[in-house]
Amino acid sequence: MSVRIRVATTSLAGCFGCHMSLLDLDERFLEIAARVEFDRTPLTDCKELGPCTLGLIEGGVANAENVGVLRQFRQRCQILVAVGACAVQGGIPALRNPFSLRECLEASYVRGIGLHHPGIPDDPEIPLLLDRVYPLHEVVRIDHFLPGCPPPAEAFWSLFDALLAGRPVVIPAEQIRYD
Ligand code: SF4
Repeated sequence: MSVRIRVATTSLAGCFGCHMSLLDLDERFLEIAARVEFDRTPLTDCKELGPCTLGLIEGGVANAENVGVLRQFRQRCQILVAVGACAVQGGIPALRNPFSLRECLEASYVRGIGLHHPGIPDDPEIPLLLDRVYPLHEVVRIDHFLPGCPPPAEAFWSLFDALLAGRPVVIPAEQIRYD
């Protein structure tokens, strides 16, 4: 490993499980951390973004705020990686896609079990939901994909090992998961 890179990460409609898988590198994460500068990421709680060499995005695109964050990452990161099934295909959040947005909202907020005050929230501060959950590549150009729910820690290692050595990114077949 010989190149130093600046890295940002974020979670859109995701569960942070992909970030946890990155941390599953254990002591090897410290090797990576010594060789990169972290920019905006929940790992540091840094709020400013870029410019960065690498942006890692977990989660699908479910609302207008997700679209804005994703476009900002695309503008400010040279290399953008879709991390995990939600980012690559929509994943668990996309289970709502066969239903209309109104059906989803009514099932949750009007007919949901145990509701004290049924009614669809309309606070203007709540990000506007999209008609369905989109994988990242349907909104911006994506350079690499790490599938899996979550991708194994080894796949993150392969990604960083290649980028820090200035080599093309190749994820070995045994690290590519579709579950
Ligand atoms: Fe969570 Fe799995 Fe989606 Fe990653 S791919 S954000 S682990 S649900």
